[in-house]
Amino acid sequence: MLFLQTLLNFQGVTDIIHLLPDNIANQIAAGEVIQRPASAVKELLENAVDAGATTIKLLITDAGKALVQVIDDGKGMSETDARMSFERHATSKINHIEDLFRIKTMGFRGEALASIAAVAQVEMKTKRADEALGSFIEIENSQVIMQEPCAFQTGTSISMKNLFFNVPARRNFLKSNAAEMRHIVEEFIRVAMAFPNVFFSLTSNGQEVFHLDAGSLKQRIVQILGSQYNAKLVSVNEETDYLNIYGFVGKPETARKTRGDQYFFVNNRFIKSAYLNHAVNSAFDEMIAKDSFPSYVLYIDLDPSVVDINVHPTKQEIKFEDEKIIYAFVQAAVKHALAQFSIAPSLDFTLNADIQSLDAISKPFTTDKRDAASGSNLFKTFTQSNQAHFIEATDKIELKSWKSFYESSGMSGAEQSNPAESQQLLHKEQSKQLRVLPDTNLLQLHNTYIIASTNSGFLLVHQQLAHERVLYERYSIAAHGQQMPTQQSLFPVELEIIGADAALLKDLLPDLLTIGYQVESKNDQIFVIQGIPADILPGNEKHAIELLIEQFKHFSSDIKFSKREKLVRCMSRQQAIKAGQSLSQKEMLTLVEDLFTCGSPNITPTGSPTYLEFKEDYLDRMFGR
Ligand code: ADP
Ligand code: MG
Repeated sequence: MLFLQTLLNFQGVTDIIHLLPDNIANQIAAGEVIQRPASAVKELLENAVDAGATTIKLLITDAGKALVQVIDDGKGMSETDARMSFERHATSKINHIEDLFRIKTMGFRGEALASIAAVAQVEMKTKRADEALGSFIEIENSQVIMQEPCAFQTGTSISMKNLFFNVPARRNFLKSNAAEMRHIVEEFIRVAMAFPNVFFSLTSNGQEVFHLDAGSLKQRIVQILGSQYNAKLVSVNEETDYLNIYGFVGKPETARKTRGDQYFFVNNRFIKSAYLNHAVNSAFDEMIAKDSFPSYVLYIDLDPSVVDINVHPTKQEIKFEDEKIIYAFVQAAVKHALAQFSIAPSLDFTLNADIQSLDAISKPFTTDKRDAASGSNLFKTFTQSNQAHFIEATDKIELKSWKSFYESSGMSGAEQSNPAESQQLLHKEQSKQLRVLPDTNLLQLHNTYIIASTNSGFLLVHQQLAHERVLYERYSIAAHGQQMPTQQSLFPVELEIIGADAALLKDLLPDLLTIGYQVESKNDQIFVIQGIPADILPGNEKHAIELLIEQFKHFSSDIKFSKREKLVRCMSRQQAIKAGQSLSQKEMLTLVEDLFTCGSPNITPTGSPTYLEFKEDYLDRMFGR
């Protein structure tokens, strides 16, 4: 006996590992899920959404420190489920491991209620539609204190009282009521924005703070962000086989100096992504000041199997199978939306679809053309450079009717022959679509705009932006095989470039040659310009190369573009005819014709519109005809 006792004591000294009591284990695990009242708000609201509720009310007392209650009219729980729901890893949302890859619900870990019950006093009332009586459960410290039948309407009400009452150290870590309330409102908004067809209210200390009737997405966003946004949202809407992007971006004037109203949802789940945020910012490009942030509420829906939401329970980060694609889509969709908005400012997105589809200028792509284009070399990078039209669904009705509209107009014009085969192909397609009337004079306005009559109205072309598009496509073709002709310089110009810039230039030499600049390095710092593009007047090549290096460096922060793509973009911007330059009839005609041989004549590579189209019927409407 004594021996055994000694042995036990001995073991007690050397073996120090033991299992934690359940309630402590639960408290520790709960720390991951429930960090503050707002975490419970998120979990309870999401459960209500998952239960199919159409009305969800959130009641808060004392910034959630005293009470967080969510009342829903969802499907409710049976007596057994009510009890089970508080067990760790208890969920109705997953049965097999494969289910993890097709999650459609907000929750799936089965941790939330167990966590809440470990760190607060919880009361739940719930009833299913097919049962006469509901269940009432009281639970605290993970222990069921009481369970009994009760009368209740169909749905569920869960109250979380006195959060961290049993973990004083954590209770002391809670912030001021104002700060905790801010977190709560943030979570509330994120769920409410994702489900506009559900009624949500938030009542704090007896005062209703939010009352969000079920309605359209736009209504919901304006209800939440404020009516100042009402006329200032541009709708984003692109559908593809891979994903759909929809929602709204604020017009450039709503950009703010602080990062404010920026929301991304993936499959209705709010996420934070610096990467996707960058995609939106870059789509705004020069439309907003460098130090300001655009507002947006964007929703991406895609096959759950290509997204990994199975990260940390409270983390909002997300992993995509191919994030580059998502980046490109987001950027293109926003650019497309902005281009449409700039092109037809009076055609608000609230107008009906018929009128929208008259806005043909924004949809120059037909199925045939898309196929033709995507086969050519040029367009391999072109697609990568995020032209929204390429991700447009090909079978949209308005696209088809739009095409036939132009085909049946039967206008013919002088087709300029072009050495580049792919351009010729595009030219043919394009000329079917938009026809600048031959033999009419073009008019230059303020040395910046060109007015050209078309078969159905007139175009207002921005000469600089249009030329940028023309050069961009020309350089893109060159950069991908069809090298531009070079004219040898009679008096080669020397260029002194030092340090990192010299290394950069050296790196760019082969690509520069493809677009017609033959530059050779003499030593580490001295470069010689031996030849320049055949269609450029000699004289400013030194400046051009220096400028290129400068711009290229700025571009470097703009990730995602290949070296070549950056070069092409810099060069086309740099070499474009500037606004303010007077043009002859012939120059204007060449520019307009060149523009309409382009694959995407209507926007610059960065998404600014190159021209506005004013159609006759639109003009008639404006004049009340
Ligand atoms: P999860 O949501 O990850 O499944 P939870 O702990 O949040 O885990 O909830 C556990 C289970 O309890 C859910 O799977 C669901 O079946 C049920 N449940 C929770 N809240 C509700 C509710 N408001 N209405 C109906 N059922 C609910
Ligand atoms: Mg849940």
